[in-house]
Amino acid sequence: MLGAPGAGKGTQAKMIAEKYGIPHVSTGDIFRANIKNGTELGMEAKKYMDQGLLVPDELTVKILLDRVAQPDCGKGYVLDGFPRTIPQAEVLDKALSEMGDAIDYAVNVDVPDENIVKRMSGRRACVTCGATYHIEHVPPKKEGICDKCGSELILRDDDKPETVLNRLKVYHEQTQPLIDFYTAKGVLKTVDGTADMQDVFKAIEAVLG
Ligand code: ADP
Ligand code: AMP
Repeated sequence: MLGAPGAGKGTQAKMIAEKYGIPHVSTGDIFRANIKNGTELGMEAKKYMDQGLLVPDELTVKILLDRVAQPDCGKGYVLDGFPRTIPQAEVLDKALSEMGDAIDYAVNVDVPDENIVKRMSGRRACVTCGATYHIEHVPPKKEGICDKCGSELILRDDDKPETVLNRLKVYHEQTQPLIDFYTAKGVLKTVDGTADMQDVFKAIEAVLG
């Protein structure tokens, strides 16, 4: 899944994972789980995440390749938030081709910058299971409480407006070039991410078949 922070990659990735019965692999979720558990990796990643910067490629690539080598990824998976740089995409391509595999689709969820800050300031995430909500568009049944597991919902530290602007800048500089990268490979599919989330999903289903 490609797209700006807050474009709806995670929301759609979870729906794809459920429909096709494949794992949802989010590097952001892996980092957040490590932060929560106080691991060394988590402490290192947090330094960058809190500033809206990308975690260095070496660290990110390693955790991602370890994750997709797990048996549950054998029949495919949906990548959310990875790759985010051209070097990450190149390492992924090389690792996949060594396994006789390749990316089937790069789904670009297109949302203009104007909509992003509003989306992010309204996002609420579950501290336990990682489910995401939006105070206006996808509200939980009970304010501040996760529908799925009953834990507390929080505004992520990196969703505060000042950090979001940094993340958007980083997106345009480091991640957007992947659109040309995957267009050149003939796998890029762009959907309008400003539509209602069910309609975005219908557009993605039409692409994936
Ligand atoms: P990303 O994974 O790209 O950072 P999320 O999937 O977490 O983005 O979505 C960001 C916020 O926008 C969340 O609060 C989510 O509930 C909300 N959201 C996602 N898709 C839509 C949509 N199509 N319309 C309105 N709000 C959406
Ligand atoms: P996300 O949950 O995808 O919005 O990611 C949250 C933060 O985790 C990002 O702003 C980065 O700091 C870090 N992160 C997640 N995925 C990557 C990646 N592929 N490369 C570098 N940093 C990442």
